Amino acid sequence: MTVAGTGAIWTITTVLGGSLGANILLPRPGFAPYEAACKLVGAEPRFYDLLPHNGWETDLAGMRGMADGGTAAIVVINPNNPCGTVYSAHHLLHIAETARDLGIPVIADEVYAHMVFGGSKFVPMASYAHIAPVITIGSISKRFMLPGWRLGWLAFCDIHGTLEHVRTATHMLLNVTSGPASIIQAAVPKILSEEHNEFHRNVVNLLESAAYSLYRRVNKIEALQCYSKPHGSMFMMVEINTALLFGVANDMDFARELIKEESVLVLPGSVLGMMNWIRIFFGAPLDLLMEACDRIEAFCDRRAGQLKLQKLEK
Ligand SMILES: *Cc1c(COP(=O)(O)O)cnc(C)c1O
Repeated sequence: MTVAGTGAIWTITTVLGGSLGANILLPRPGFAPYEAACKLVGAEPRFYDLLPHNGWETDLAGMRGMADGGTAAIVVINPNNPCGTVYSAHHLLHIAETARDLGIPVIADEVYAHMVFGGSKFVPMASYAHIAPVITIGSISKRFMLPGWRLGWLAFCDIHGTLEHVRTATHMLLNVTSGPASIIQAAVPKILSEEHNEFHRNVVNLLESAAYSLYRRVNKIEALQCYSKPHGSMFMMVEINTALLFGVANDMDFARELIKEESVLVLPGSVLGMMNWIRIFFGAPLDLLMEACDRIEAFCDRRAGQLKLQKLEK
C-alpha cells in the first residue's frame, strides 16, 4: 500500500528508473506526475503517442521503435486520463506482446478501473500477465471518491517470477518511506467490499450522461472538436482551431482567456504534450457542466465575432 496512486507512481519509478541510463515509456497525452517522477530519479521519460484519430489507441510501432536496452517499463493508463478511452482486450493484448518482445514489464495505471460506460468493458492489464509481467497501480481517490484519504497500492502480477528483484526493492523502499495512515488502511476491506455496488452504478450513470452531453455540446462549437466519445474516466481531450478565435494563438491563451472571461477552468493540452488541445473534466453535476458549455460557447462565439470584425476593418 502506498500514499495514494501518486505514491505508487513515485515508488515504482524510483525502483525501476533509478539505475544509470534508464528510460521509461510514457503516453502522450499523459499524466504529468510520471514525467516529474522520472526526472526526479534521473530516468529519461520517452513519450509514445496516443492516436486521436484512432480512438486514442497507442502507437505500438512508435513504442517499439523508441525502446532500447535502457528501457525499464511501459506505462499504460486505462481507462485513460486525459482521453477518456477504454482499451479493448485486443489492444491490451498487443501492448502485452510488445512488452514481452522488449523484455520489460507494463506499469498499468488503473485508478479509473471499472469507471466505464457506453457498452465498454474494463479489462485489467493483469489478464495478460502470462505474456508480460504487470505492475498495477490502484487508488481509492477516483472510483471511491476519497482523494483526501491518500491510499493507493502497487499490485505485482508476475507469473514467471521475472520481477522478484523489483518486488524486493519495492518492499525495501516502502519499508524506509512512509505509508498510508493505519486507520485508513483498516477501512480498506470495507471500502473494497461488494456492498457499494449501487453507489458505483450511480456514479457511472452520472458520468455517462455527463460525458455524452458534453461531447454533443462541444462538437456543436465551431472552433472545438472532440474526435472520440469518452467511454471511461472523467476526462476528454478537445482540439482547438485557433485560426477561428481572435486573440487565441494557442491552448495556453485559450485556457487563460476562458477563465478570465467566463470563470471556466480547462487544462491546456501543452502541459500534457498536446499543443492546441484542452482537457475537460466532466465529473461534475450535469447542470453545472451545461452552464460551463454555455460559457465556453459564448467565449468562442465572441472571439469568432471579433475575428470577423477585424477582417472587415482590414
Ligand atoms: C488521479 C490519478 C492518479 C493518482 O491519484 P491519487 O489521488 O494520488 O490516488 C494516478 N494516475 C492517474 C492517471 C490519475 O488520474
